[in-house]
Amino acid sequence: MKHTKLCPKCGSNDIIRVDGYAGPYGSGNNIIVGKTIFAAVNVNRYICCSCGFTEEWIDKEDIEKVKNSKKAKR
Ligand SMILES: [Zn+2]
Repeated sequence: MKHTKLCPKCGSNDIIRVDGYAGPYGSGNNIIVGKTIFAAVNVNRYICCSCGFTEEWIDKEDIEKVKNSKKAKR
C-alpha cells in the first residue's frame, strides 16, 4: 500500500497518508522508545478513502530505535 499506492483490500488507488506525531500527554500516533516524549518514533498511516482500510508504517531509520527499546518483544 505504501509502495504500490493501491489498497490491498479493494484495489482502489485513492490512498492518503497521515503522518504520525508525538504530541503532549502521549497524543499522536507514535511509539515511545525512551523515557520522554522526545524519544518517540512516529507511526505513519496510509488510509484507503474507498473502503477505510489502514496500514501503519514507521520510517526505516526509526526501526533500530524501536528494536533497541525495552518495549520490543519477540
Ligand atoms: Zn480499500
